[in-house]
Amino acid sequence: MTGKITFTMIKPDAVEANNIGPILAMINKAGFTIKALKYLSLTKEQAGQFYAVHKERPFYGELVDYMSSGPLVAAILSKDNAVSDYRKLIGATDPTKAEEGTIRKMFAKSIAANAVHGSDSDENAHIESDFFFSQLERF
Ligand code: UDP
Ligand code: MG
Repeated sequence: MTGKITFTMIKPDAVEANNIGPILAMINKAGFTIKALKYLSLTKEQAGQFYAVHKERPFYGELVDYMSSGPLVAAILSKDNAVSDYRKLIGATDPTKAEEGTIRKMFAKSIAANAVHGSDSDENAHIESDFFFSQLERF
């Protein structure tokens, strides 16, 4: 199982801009399989819990407000080396530093509203997947 899954969100800015379809197409084209998928919005409490590791960072309050500002798409993706390959596909946190052809370079609006989330480790991929999905919701 290690290395096989990562967790992603298509964030509210990309949903608002009608980019769910194009981003899912890029994910599939890069060789990821969708194991779980849902469209939902987070309360402030839920967004705060998801990003609790960033609680002490200066951008935390803004991040929580933004991530609870509208609907998002959450998904579990499967592929060998899923975490690192997906981080490469999404590009740098700051879209002005993201490489050409990456999801953030193409779709992100700013460092905060940066189109997508991607897990940063296998451990967090599992923790984040469990935050959103039950076993019955995975295929
Ligand atoms: N973020 C922000 N300002 C910053 C750094 C991060 O608003 O200076 C937001 C941004 O939406 C980012 C999220 O906080 O995706 C989590 O930050 P992290 O450092 O984990 O970046 P990521 O792993 O998403 O690339
Ligand atoms: Mg991160």
